[in-house]
Amino acid sequence: MIQAFILTIVLKLALISAVIFVSMKKTSLYFIPFLILLIASCSVSKDPQRSYIKKLQKGIIKDDTSYVYHLPYEEGKTHLLVQGYFSKFSHKNRAALDFKMKRGTKVTAAREGVVVRVKQDGDRGGWNKKYRPYGNVIVIQHSDGTRAGYWHLQHNGAFVKVGDTIKQGQVIALSGKTGYTLFPHLHFIVWRSDSNGWRQVATRFQTKEGVKFLRPMRRYSNKQP
Ligand SMILES: [Zn+2]
Repeated sequence: MIQAFILTIVLKLALISAVIFVSMKKTSLYFIPFLILLIASCSVSKDPQRSYIKKLQKGIIKDDTSYVYHLPYEEGKTHLLVQGYFSKFSHKNRAALDFKMKRGTKVTAAREGVVVRVKQDGDRGGWNKKYRPYGNVIVIQHSDGTRAGYWHLQHNGAFVKVGDTIKQGQVIALSGKTGYTLFPHLHFIVWRSDSNGWRQVATRFQTKEGVKFLRPMRRYSNKQP
């Protein structure tokens, strides 16, 4: 049991390392601290949602009623999910998704709604907390009161403004690497408001292979039926 657990961790590390190696030019600069952080952050999140989401991802619990989101990029495009819900690196306590994306990739609305926040004046980013205030973001409110956030967008890369009504699949921004981030990607998150305030939630997505709760280190293609 313990050996199996350690093996899983080692395999995950190897996979993530491989992805970082392939996807970065300045490998030596980023890779070492990244690996150290990965190892250091291997303790598992205590969030009670974590085991529930795991069961959804594996199909042990069936969810046939919740809203089906579109992947937040253009139809026909495929992106690697680098981190999933409660991943051990920087999503330890976050029900968030990180899609690896070159700067300037078109980000689309995963669900229709009204834009409630746009920040696009951030002009820098990097793997340091000091960059956090520079993270550009668009937040869209949906008809059921949930909200989706799209992070790390390109400087002046927003195509929408607060108050705009957005269709599902509409291009809303260009992706980037602003804020607290190691590499260019889109950080996507959905929240729901309840008596305890805003809570992050996992959502279903339409993929080429059907409707799924996404899992890390897999590639997902946006194809609508
Ligand atoms: Zn993230």
